[in-house]
Amino acid sequence: MEYKTIDDNEIHEECGVFGVFNVKNASELTYYALHAMQHRGQEGCGIVTTDGTRLYGHRGVGMVKEIFHEQELRYCKGDFAIGHVRYSTAGGSGPNNVQPFMFNHSTGDFGLCHNGNIVNSKQIREKLEMNGSIFQSTSDTEILAHLIKKDVTKSRIEAIKEALNTLKGGFAFIVITKDKLYAMRDKNGLRPLSIGKMQDGYVISSETCAFDVIGAEFIRDVEPGEIVTFTKDGMSSTFYAKDRVNNICAMEYIYFSRPDSDICGVNVHASRKEAGRVLAQEAPVDADIVLGVPDSSLSAAVGYAEESGIPYEMGLIKNKYMGRTFIEPSQELRDKGVRMKLSPVRSIVKGKRIILIDDSIVRGTTSKKIVKMLRDMGALEVHMRIASPPMISPCFYGVDTNTYEELISAYNDVEKVREIIGCDSLAFLSHEGLKKATGISDMCMACFTGHYPTELFDSIKDANKESKF
Ligand code: SF4
Repeated sequence: MEYKTIDDNEIHEECGVFGVFNVKNASELTYYALHAMQHRGQEGCGIVTTDGTRLYGHRGVGMVKEIFHEQELRYCKGDFAIGHVRYSTAGGSGPNNVQPFMFNHSTGDFGLCHNGNIVNSKQIREKLEMNGSIFQSTSDTEILAHLIKKDVTKSRIEAIKEALNTLKGGFAFIVITKDKLYAMRDKNGLRPLSIGKMQDGYVISSETCAFDVIGAEFIRDVEPGEIVTFTKDGMSSTFYAKDRVNNICAMEYIYFSRPDSDICGVNVHASRKEAGRVLAQEAPVDADIVLGVPDSSLSAAVGYAEESGIPYEMGLIKNKYMGRTFIEPSQELRDKGVRMKLSPVRSIVKGKRIILIDDSIVRGTTSKKIVKMLRDMGALEVHMRIASPPMISPCFYGVDTNTYEELISAYNDVEKVREIIGCDSLAFLSHEGLKKATGISDMCMACFTGHYPTELFDSIKDANKESKF
């Protein structure tokens, strides 16, 4: 018997972060916010709070509803909190790498959590270890803590600025002390982080969907290269870097974020729907119905259907009630048609020429399975349309496509990918089409172009061979 995680999607975001400053029931609010961002990481979660006298923390391996119950939330006292949901890539899984981390220090205790990936972490870690630092985990997050405390003669904000200037990559950090919260984003703005207002305090989140869930009002995003400090005197801002650009990750729009989130002022559902519209203009095909692969492709499928005039149908149903782990059906049962996650609706697909919209193709294994399922249910033709360009390069900024080998489009042209997947025709959204759909021209699109916005240090060497494109 083989046990697998529920989520067999081919690509994963690394994490989601959340913070509360000066709002009652901070741990409970963080619980609901993390629950709303569970899609950003299901392997571990944690909350650290303070009541001004000390820090309280609880974390564990599992989903938010498994790790937190009334007792843990009651233990995490105070009006300030930070929280984290984790999908492990850099640093690996295991309880030691679950965030937020807590640190005791003679100059003041603090907690820390982050989303993203530091591409020069290996070099910094080696240097720190040579100078006597001892790490509790293999996570990148701890590096910032060691850097902040490297020179205790500096003020905390100066120490944070210096530490951030040492880090390269895509990251969003939140730091909690007994009387302050700090929120910061990398100078390329790769990972999102937004600020909301709630009662007399503030909340900070990787995604704005968490604000709607707890009733907070969005104020603004943390800018690339900005450190926002929350104290009893309110919110203040400073920048740690001069060379700042807004290269928000394109995959936040394509796949990671919830449709009800706004990332850098652009609604995720609206951008996906527009991507579907542009795709219909760029790659039309004669067919009877348009289907989307649930859930992240449904908005693009609606856009494609509206633009093409071909009816949208609910031809694929996702089982919403799966637990975190389940017993994968044996090959024999799968051959007999046992499907755990996704099922075609026979009465809709039988005898139809189908346009199947998916958000992206990574390894191609899921697409191949879906095309086969539709054909088995009697579909006459299956034309795949992908609402993003071919993924030809790995991501080193906190997404788990770390090698070229994992990417079917890194080694195969579109026709070869079509043949492997087994569909009748295949087309991807163009680079220009993606920019048009989001209205943002300077996003990070490195996994589609191979042009990375930062230095990569050893990451590129570890990513096997290069793409042939
Ligand atoms: S490489 Fe791709 S997944 Fe990674 S940050 Fe850039 S756009 Fe996002």
